[in-house]
Amino acid sequence: MKKETKLIQNILSDPLTGAISTPIYQTSTYVQEAPGVHKGFDYTRTNNPTRKILENLITNLEYGCASLAFSSGLASIDAILKLLKCGDEIVAVDDIYGGTFRVLNLYKKLGIHTKFVDTTNAEKTISAISDKTKLIWLESPTNPTLKISDIEYISKKSKNKNSTILVVVDNTFASPAIQNPLKLGSDIVVHSATKYLAGHSDVLAGLITVKNTDLYEKLKYIQNTTGGVLSPIDCWLTIRGSQTLYLRIKKQSQNAFKIASFLKKQNNKLDQLYYPGLSHHKNHFIAVKQQRYFGGIVSFSLKMDTIESAKKIVTSTKLFKLAESLGGTKSLICHPATMTHKSTPLEIRKNAGIQDSLIRLSMGIENADDLIEDIDQALKSL
Ligand code: PLP
Repeated sequence: MKKETKLIQNILSDPLTGAISTPIYQTSTYVQEAPGVHKGFDYTRTNNPTRKILENLITNLEYGCASLAFSSGLASIDAILKLLKCGDEIVAVDDIYGGTFRVLNLYKKLGIHTKFVDTTNAEKTISAISDKTKLIWLESPTNPTLKISDIEYISKKSKNKNSTILVVVDNTFASPAIQNPLKLGSDIVVHSATKYLAGHSDVLAGLITVKNTDLYEKLKYIQNTTGGVLSPIDCWLTIRGSQTLYLRIKKQSQNAFKIASFLKKQNNKLDQLYYPGLSHHKNHFIAVKQQRYFGGIVSFSLKMDTIESAKKIVTSTKLFKLAESLGGTKSLICHPATMTHKSTPLEIRKNAGIQDSLIRLSMGIENADDLIEDIDQALKSL
């Protein structure tokens, strides 16, 4: 079966009733025949049938061994970091998602240090590895300047240097429809399923998929101990949303390419334009090698590089709604300097290329011509 068929057909009908839509097992506990004698489910923090179906779904999508569903992307990220102990080190992508940066800061207090490097430079990443390095943390593409790191090369070289290093890839911005990090040599893939996987801006969810049972057992223990599981109804929403992943990603990537091509012609107003599908993008060739589509996010900055000019644009669009988050069916516009990256220190923000006027667009599944018209009229407000 091809991957689109597998995604749909692997979600089995309910064996008890034949229900074609996955039942929501909204239960905290399960009746036992005798103490410890049950049907494989004893308490929903440990296991739940609806959650199990979602976990199987993402295991198949990411070509992994097993998966775990969490109450948010950050809860999943936190669980992975709990694999480490005081004195361990992490090598992480320098323009990491701000929320992950905050969690890493918490772990710093517990003696787990992170070296931030430009992971688009693979050699620099490998040379940042020390005897204490236990994790390499990649995001590709990054938010919001869409830098691409070579997952296959970094995974291979880091394991040549130290075979016990774990390579983790936050695959939120790509989704499994675009790339499968485990197939590229990483050990753990994590998603804020809140974005492309659930895909309808109606749920907060996190998913981890691992390449072997040892990692699964360790993370399952952490999850069951700390309890950040995804509720049955949110599992159901994520299962329902994920079924259209391939259709949405294709359309969103087409929309993004058309918008990026339109923006490329607006060089009287634009300063930087970031889209991995354009040949001028710094990491275009890694994207061509690594990704099936170039993704649904486009970012750009203005010649008039001020917060005010960006605010003018983001409050002038009518179809692109001003909101945080991304990956839903409805197009969104965001001003990182005053929204997603507001708490990032100015120097770090500027070093990551997040100018005052940088604007991030998340494509929905609307008609591209309407979206272009919307951006065009907003640019004219300048
Ligand atoms: N990773 C990335 C790349 C993100 O963009 C986000 C949220 O924006 C997260 C993780 C955190 O996910 P959540 O908001 O579901 O906790």
